[in-house]
Amino acid sequence: GQCITHCPVGSLTTRNDTHRVYDAIEDENLITVVQVAPAVRAAWAENLNIEEKSATPSLMVAALKKIGFDYVFDTNFSADLTIMEEANEFLEVYTSGGRDLPMFTSCCPGWVRFMKSQYPDMVKYLSTSKSPQQMFGAVAKSYYADLLGVDANKICCISIMPCTAKKKEAEIETINDTEAQRDVDIVITTREMEKMIRAENLDFSKLKEESFDSPLGIGSGAGVIFGATGGVMEAALRSAYYFVTGKNPDPDSFVSVRGEEGWRESKFSIAGNELSVAVVSGLRNARELMDALIRGEVKYDFVEVMACPGGCSGGGGQPIKDGCELAYTRANKLYKLDKKMYLRYSHENPAIQKIYSEYLGKPNSEIAHKLLHTDHESWKMPLSPIFSMDEDSKFRYN
Ligand code: SF4
Repeated sequence: GQCITHCPVGSLTTRNDTHRVYDAIEDENLITVVQVAPAVRAAWAENLNIEEKSATPSLMVAALKKIGFDYVFDTNFSADLTIMEEANEFLEVYTSGGRDLPMFTSCCPGWVRFMKSQYPDMVKYLSTSKSPQQMFGAVAKSYYADLLGVDANKICCISIMPCTAKKKEAEIETINDTEAQRDVDIVITTREMEKMIRAENLDFSKLKEESFDSPLGIGSGAGVIFGATGGVMEAALRSAYYFVTGKNPDPDSFVSVRGEEGWRESKFSIAGNELSVAVVSGLRNARELMDALIRGEVKYDFVEVMACPGGCSGGGGQPIKDGCELAYTRANKLYKLDKKMYLRYSHENPAIQKIYSEYLGKPNSEIAHKLLHTDHESWKMPLSPIFSMDEDSKFRYN
């Protein structure tokens, strides 16, 4: 990767929540359910002594099982759920017309906080679809608790994220929509997971690969690419195309949204509808895009924003290696995983089809709204500047 000199990450310390995870695992009254974000699988073994070709997502699952989690699930499942909700939400906004500003993705809490503090009047343009992390928590403590036949409070929902802002996202009071106290109980970063794996002293050459558990461990390639900048947009377009035309597009129809520039634009035509989209990563680029939109210099229908330069694969909770920026190297790993997958569309994920037929009805239904959507205006930003506003850096809580 390209080396960066301004990287402040190594000098900052972040909250360590691994002791809370160990307490939950030891508590016999709790069922520990862990979700692993897409970007984590591209980086989890970088600082562990494992050959690159052996460092598969299935080996990561095996290592997590050794730590003692009861169920190892995949945020890719809820990334697919996010796409179902968000692509339909977008089509509703788009076809209702009369809006001069685009719909913005809202799955990056760094970006949501930036929007709330810097452009409060624009918060209403954020998608109301919750992030995959929060959708996972909401489903784990409703649908999945029902499947297990247990009280929602018996489930301890833990997430492993490439991100420090995700810890704060889980703490937003109004984001909790189940019977349980919290939808997501504990959030640890990739680096914290790495510490826990290291503490197991595993012999990786003897460790046998294991699959994610079912049903919240089934995800598509569209979910995998969420970890790369442009991935949410690409995944959403794959399904939006299907929702509009009733046919699947070639899964690689929308690769023009990929790339390393901090602000990219693409145009597509879906069943005669012209669609103009933009993808930005890094808060400086986000600010430039917002100002250009407000001045009327650019016009888009749908915009994806990630606070960290290069998206979550380069997130503030990922392993740090010699001050090198690995966001794009890791994103390429995610694109390769997507390409190899049998499932490449969120709407074809059988676990997603099942949860809609058994529990949610259809996207944007009343119960989907209760569990899977949120009002970004319902909570106040803390008054003290608790996050780094260095707009060229990874999004970090200090
Ligand atoms: Fe977190 Fe950065 Fe990803 Fe945003 S882009 S969700 S701040 S890792």
